[in-house]
Amino acid sequence: WREGESYYIEDLGSTNKTYVNGQPIVGRVLLHDGDQIGVGNSALKFFTGTSTEARYHQELINLATFDSLTGLYNRRHFMTLLEEECGRARREPVALSVIMIDIDFFKKVNDEMGHVAGDQALKLVSKVLGELAGPMMAVGRLGGEEFAVLCRNTSLADAAAHAEVLRQAIASREFRYEGTLRPLSSSFGVAAWQPGFDAITDLVKAADEQLYRAKGSGRNR
Ligand code: GH3
Ligand code: MG
Ligand code: MG
Repeated sequence: WREGESYYIEDLGSTNKTYVNGQPIVGRVLLHDGDQIGVGNSALKFFTGTSTEARYHQELINLATFDSLTGLYNRRHFMTLLEEECGRARREPVALSVIMIDIDFFKKVNDEMGHVAGDQALKLVSKVLGELAGPMMAVGRLGGEEFAVLCRNTSLADAAAHAEVLRQAIASREFRYEGTLRPLSSSFGVAAWQPGFDAITDLVKAADEQLYRAKGSGRNR
């Protein structure tokens, strides 16, 4: 607990004790920046919010969580979030949907306008996806020009409606780079968790199949 600027820790009578820097706690202990706290098999490190080391750790967390170009969740973190939701969907009757997104003919954007322009296009699409995301949604960049939206408590119909909103927003947003105007479009695949599903791969595969179908039947859909 906190008292003014100080933080204290106390063991409330655990059978396996709580340790600070290897010493079992007796009474209450004032925590110092960098103290190691041992609870069962877990080791925690205590930082005050302003310390250099705390900022360094926050930086590491950010690097492990976010895609540096777009600021969206990176693949690893997005999949961790989706994994958690799939676990919940397996246990409880909750709706869970996912939208897979792939920019159309993106290679051409790079080839004709350059890689720097391509990066700007990725940022623009990411901005649209992020701005339109609802409070129950999480947006990730899975790699290259592929994105995904995790839709918690969202039916297939509602997720599909959101995908259509995204499709229109991307298609109508003007991408301009060094005076050149270039329309962008994306293809979408949407799937919802179903009772027969077992794992995250089932859901991702189902959405990917629909994305593949969107590509095959003309894109921008
Ligand atoms: P399709 O409509 O079938 O999706 O065609 P596409 O050209 O978008 O698909 P493809 O997967 O062949 O091309 C993806 C391209 O995305 C290839 C690569 O040059 C580009 N790309 C991947 N990552 C990045 C990136 O970080 N920055 C830039 N500028 N381009 C990237
Ligand atoms: Mg692709
Ligand atoms: Mg593509």
